[in-house]
Amino acid sequence: MNTENKPTAREWMPAIDPSQVAIVLVNTSHPGNIGAAARAMKNMGLNQLILVDPEDFPSGAATARAAWAVDVLENARVVSTLEEAVADCGLIIGTSARSRKLPWPMLEPEACAERVLHEHATNKVALVFGREDSGLNNEELQLCHYHVQVPTSPECPSLNLSAAVMVLSYEIAKRARLDEAAKAVPEDHFWDQERASAEENERFFTHLERVMIAIRFHDPDNPRQLMQRMRRLFGRIRIDVMEMNILRGILSNIEWHIKHRDERKDPPRGATIEQIEEALEKENS
Ligand code: SAH
Repeated sequence: MNTENKPTAREWMPAIDPSQVAIVLVNTSHPGNIGAAARAMKNMGLNQLILVDPEDFPSGAATARAAWAVDVLENARVVSTLEEAVADCGLIIGTSARSRKLPWPMLEPEACAERVLHEHATNKVALVFGREDSGLNNEELQLCHYHVQVPTSPECPSLNLSAAVMVLSYEIAKRARLDEAAKAVPEDHFWDQERASAEENERFFTHLERVMIAIRFHDPDNPRQLMQRMRRLFGRIRIDVMEMNILRGILSNIEWHIKHRDERKDPPRGATIEQIEEALEKENS
């Protein structure tokens, strides 16, 4: 935890090392898109931005659109060619709004995220985004191992550059968090009490039914689905032994008070369920 007690990006998404994943923007013309892309990256826990020959950078428009992600802009590496940007990367994934003439290994955004996650520990990864007007050229696309396309409506297939960065970064973050959640021990493993056993549950249902009959809530000649519904309710909750003990205690006390309703007499203080049941049985016999 950091000093503000807020989790850091690494704590939020520990399954990914952001220093291994670069977002590369090629020849961007609008500085606002660079700022918006930086913001989208930081929203999703990423921070390595590489700008290939940007038309206008640094720029006030980029800073303004970056909001909380100005540090991503400040740390951005500016290079003049894509080759330079991806020189140290072992996995290069290019993005495209449309299929190109020469078919290339394609990934869906989810599969792209999975590949990034599985490979980033051993390979530096680059996700490459193209120009606003013409995307990536064929030569740039052929530098990439895979192409990824965000499925979009044919009536408007091309995403805004920063929206494309957001979708692919989101998929990476989502996948990283799911992987982490799958590793986590389920809540049940930390439960402080054992769950009530089947036998204890059966004793409880017998007891509950007896009390519901005694208080005339339940008519055994016309049971409808009451007991099934009670079983389904408690089955959903899977109560623990302590909770079971409390419920059985309540039922025993109800029985005691039914028995002694005219005497206004309390059961022996601190008596266990068994002791109350035993005392009631003795009185009944
Ligand atoms: N007319 C261009 C559109 C460029 S949009 C073209 O047809 O390629 C600018 C950049 O945003 C693209 O180069 C790509 O990096 C990204 N982008 C836009 N739409 C996308 C989509 N549907 N899938 C993946 N990336 C997309």
